[in-house]
Amino acid sequence: MRVTVTGAGIIGLTSAYRLAEAGHDVTVVAAASPMESTSAVAGGVVYPPIRVPDERIVRWTAASLAVFRTQDAPGVRLRRGRVLGDPDPWWLPAVDDPVRVGDGVGFTTAVVDPPVYLEWLLARVGELGVRVAYRSVTSLRGLDADVVVNAAGLGAGALADDPAMVPVGGQVVHVTDPGLPEFVVDARGPGVTYVIPHGGHVVCGGTEEPGRADTDPNPAVTADILRRCRELEPRLAGAEVLRSLVGLRPFRRAVRLERVGDVVHCYGHGGAGITLAWGSAADVAGLLTAG
Ligand SMILES: Cc1cc2nc3c(=O)[nH]c(=O)nc-3n(C[C@H](O)[C@H](O)[C@H](O)COP(=O)(O)OP(=O)(O)OC[C@H]3O[C@@H](n4cnc5c(N)ncnc54)[C@H](O)[C@@H]3O)c2cc1C
Repeated sequence: MRVTVTGAGIIGLTSAYRLAEAGHDVTVVAAASPMESTSAVAGGVVYPPIRVPDERIVRWTAASLAVFRTQDAPGVRLRRGRVLGDPDPWWLPAVDDPVRVGDGVGFTTAVVDPPVYLEWLLARVGELGVRVAYRSVTSLRGLDADVVVNAAGLGAGALADDPAMVPVGGQVVHVTDPGLPEFVVDARGPGVTYVIPHGGHVVCGGTEEPGRADTDPNPAVTADILRRCRELEPRLAGAEVLRSLVGLRPFRRAVRLERVGDVVHCYGHGGAGITLAWGSAADVAGLLTAG
């Protein structure tokens, strides 16, 4: 089948990968390169910071983790880390070796350095014969394909005329990595503070700003993130600040993954797109097989 995938973030590229692997003739059409997507800004921990229990989320997280565990891709490490807060998160069965430690849970999962991984993934889909064209799409109709996969992140909402999509801004600060062995997420509120080491740098965060439209880092927010992260992880005291970044999470109260005629919608992954990517891509491919 000839398939056009709109979007070259983590969701579009993993969907394209699975579809090409299943023998489809795949073209990705994206407004901009993967390096300019929200996916490139993500912290990269494979766990779903989602409050409402959803059976699909556990399944997709476990499926993605299984892929990251065996893929041997650059920018992916299996690490232990902690999420602070009570009670134990409902999604805990999806990750490896969970144990309650004091005021949080420790577990092992994949930690993905998004720009490194996206570059690798883009090359892999190319090897599978996927064509990638950079242009903006204004309608899902009229694309030269048997089936269209709508995986355009925030843009997918506009293409599907879906008012349930909301941008949730997130600012992060990258600092040099003093050799931290574990990630830590403090979800006890208010807000969320996280420290995610990638070897060369650490992603410090964060913010959750519903309705945010711009991606210009705010210097006062950078200072606040650094203060919170150094409190959470004192070994960051001397770390050098490298850059501040802002991404707009494609938030929806529940991920939309369904087939409507010749369109498969796959969007609304909010703050968990890296986590859910391979699991949802498998379901996208399944929907094409099911006809
Ligand atoms: C600060 C921050 C930290 C995060 N940390 C994590 C984390 O630790 N773990 C995790 O799992 N997730 C995390 N996320 C969430 C994750 O980044 C998103 O869920 C994920 O990037 C969504 O991927 P996507 O492919 O749907 O969208 P995007 O990455 O936004 O990609 C959308 C693609 O669609 C294209 N597009 C849009 N409109 C059009 C159009 N009209 N025509 C053609 N192309 C179009 C864009 O150019 C782009 O290629 C974080 C996000 C932020 C902002």
